[in-house]
Amino acid sequence: MHQMTLAEIARGLADKKFSSEELTKVLLARITQLDPQLNSFISLTEELALEQAKAADARRANGESGALLGAPIAHKDLFCTQGIRTSCGSKMLDNFKAPYDATVVAKLAAAGAVTLGKTNMDEFAMGSANESSWYGAVKNPWNLEHVPGGSSGGSAAAVAARLLPAATATDTGGSIRQPAAFTNLTGLKPTYGRVSRWGMIAYASSLDQGGPLARTAEDCAILLQGMAGFDQNDSTSIDEPVPDYSASLGDSLQGLRIGVPKEYFSAGLDPRIAELIQNSIKELQKLGAVIKEISLPNMQHAIPAYYVIAPAEASSNLSRFDGVRFGHRCEQPKDLIDLYKRSRGEGFGPEVQRRIMVGAYALSAGYYDAYYLKAQKIRRLVKNDFMAAFNEVDIILGPTTPNPAWKLGAKNSDPVAAYLEDVYTITANLAGLPGLSMPAGFVDGLPVGVQLLAPYFQEGRLLNVAHQYQLNTDWHTRTPTGF
Ligand code: GLN
Repeated sequence: MHQMTLAEIARGLADKKFSSEELTKVLLARITQLDPQLNSFISLTEELALEQAKAADARRANGESGALLGAPIAHKDLFCTQGIRTSCGSKMLDNFKAPYDATVVAKLAAAGAVTLGKTNMDEFAMGSANESSWYGAVKNPWNLEHVPGGSSGGSAAAVAARLLPAATATDTGGSIRQPAAFTNLTGLKPTYGRVSRWGMIAYASSLDQGGPLARTAEDCAILLQGMAGFDQNDSTSIDEPVPDYSASLGDSLQGLRIGVPKEYFSAGLDPRIAELIQNSIKELQKLGAVIKEISLPNMQHAIPAYYVIAPAEASSNLSRFDGVRFGHRCEQPKDLIDLYKRSRGEGFGPEVQRRIMVGAYALSAGYYDAYYLKAQKIRRLVKNDFMAAFNEVDIILGPTTPNPAWKLGAKNSDPVAAYLEDVYTITANLAGLPGLSMPAGFVDGLPVGVQLLAPYFQEGRLLNVAHQYQLNTDWHTRTPTGF
């Protein structure tokens, strides 16, 4: 039962082959049995799940239908869930029970999705390895000595290990696509503003975007359908109609123009990954796509710009966690300054503290123009590169990551080495574009992802290209041994 995709579950429930309650029990037992190896959950919500599953079964018995009605999922632990711990992977929020549901959580619950729990993540979504969580590192089910990617590593590891079919995640600089690549999943970061950020604990507000992690493009379409849409509670949410994503999965790729940036194949890329990317290009050519070399000349500046903008926004967003308004409070403070210092010093881990310091420095008088303003100018140049490219091509294709998943601890002493691994993903966040990662093969038994980028609001196009590819390849069906 645990091998089923969301699409298969929807068919099975509609045909009354099993109930949501039965399926939910099977998956909860599987999580209890297998997750100790992975550490992919921070909280399990068994009671809520069984209640939601029974309610979904009752709605089906009353004639209701819907692809998510009775479908088990989990939420990354930065989506606020009413009355349930929402920790953001941090000691700071270990005791925080959200007083309301995030819009994404509420929308999925209304569609009948069943919440099995809250997944582990890098602290405040800062990281690419899921090692900065206060609840401990998450392991990659493909090799337990390797990282699953981050920051949505818990969602990725759980879905890859078949503990559940799909989960929500967020992507500020790659945190949906990179863990998807590292664990052989399909993950979609939507256009900025497509999915509401209300109730999604902020890291860098101009970059953060929620989206689906699943095994197939078909399942990403189903989950995105339940997440997307205008929300008046989020001032950056965009009032654009939401298309039927599943309906966009039948288009032919005949004549589709795929741009391959020459900058993507530089020295930093593992040659074995480069070869797998070339293979995926050949596959898409067989399906009728036309390949064109393009250039994204400002890509080289994207990492430094991102690692100024994201920490700058984080330093401002995280100021609310002061032990007074929100978060952990130290014992017996001497005075107000001592309360702030010790509460934040005890509550935040080292990576979060590093980012707050970098961000506050970049925003301080005298350095603002040199760092923050300059980074914003680069951001515009990165966006302009994409706009020029999309005049010539329909999608852009390349690797999701320069290397496969590294060993746990391998980059702990050198944060910049980890930042450099984000080179292919962060440009989409800087420009606000949608991006998808899908399985494209293996290197040393570790999964490799190919990334597709599209113009604003063309999530349907990305999902369709990935779906056509998945109809003709079987990488996405491979299961890690032991799960
Ligand atoms: N690795 C990037 C960072 O640490 C991206 C994280 C994310 O997308 N949340 O900022």
